[in-house]
Amino acid sequence: MPAHLPTSPTLLILGGTGEGFALAEAAVERLGGEIAGLRVITSMAGRVATPRLPAGELRVGGFSRADCSGSEGLAHYLRDQAVAAVIDATHPFAARMGWNAAAACAQAGVPLLRLERPAWQPGPEDRWEQVSDWPAAAEALRGRAHRVFLTVGRQELAPFTALDDIWFLIRSVEAPDASLTFARRELLLARGPFHLEDERALLRDHRIDTIVCKNSGGTATDAKLTAAREQGIRVVMLARPARPDLPAVPKVAAAVAWARDVLRAG
Ligand code: NAP
Repeated sequence: MPAHLPTSPTLLILGGTGEGFALAEAAVERLGGEIAGLRVITSMAGRVATPRLPAGELRVGGFSRADCSGSEGLAHYLRDQAVAAVIDATHPFAARMGWNAAAACAQAGVPLLRLERPAWQPGPEDRWEQVSDWPAAAEALRGRAHRVFLTVGRQELAPFTALDDIWFLIRSVEAPDASLTFARRELLLARGPFHLEDERALLRDHRIDTIVCKNSGGTATDAKLTAAREQGIRVVMLARPARPDLPAVPKVAAAVAWARDVLRAG
């Protein structure tokens, strides 16, 4: 028998991000005392072998099965667990889950909110070129860049390997696949946050003329953009994938307030 009542007010967080983790903590802490029997469940895709354990409950893995799609599987899960509210806190570059969540919540009649850090916006002094996929980013370098700082994630490097005339500084958290060969590259293993002084020095010391990155938003990795602006360096920026048109908030506190209203009303 489950420890919770079948009618326990239940919030499902689609996580896998720092925001999702912070939201679970805040929801348990702030709403736990107010809403009797509250369950806060975080769902993760299961890409990371040892994820940080969020407050509340954790479930892991996609919702698709041999006999149903991800959105149908999620709709079943919402009904089975009597979920009263869903907050999509997946990463801005997680392209599919938001659409599945929108379809499943519409099908199951469950309110859905998007929690998303705002995208970075270029200012008048920025030299950005926005692209919609990595091959387009590689094309934007051909014949126009010599020394490139690639901060795209180790799984996105393949389109750049053909650019033999370019020297790359590749920064990633974990080492890229050894089968990816670059004619000329230096590898820098590092995890943010990165500080402005260090980013300024990195760009200057390596005589970088172009940065390639994705529009993650937030403050952990935006110092390179400030340094690029100061030094007149071009930025090839991957735009975020399209998302369903949903109510969205940028901050955890606003998401908690929304959950409070929905769970109380339910
Ligand atoms: P995606 O393209 O949106 O999702 C692919 C599939 O993974 C989904 O169709 C779903 O499978 C499953 N999935 C994704 N998020 C899930 C969740 N929170 N709970 C249960 N299943 C989930 O996402 P992705 O780019 O593969 O990223 C996977 C996860 O890593 C996301 O949760 C995201 O927040 C996190 N993440 C992604 C990035 C990035 O740059 N893409 C960066 C940091 C963290 P089913 O269809 O079987 O349900």
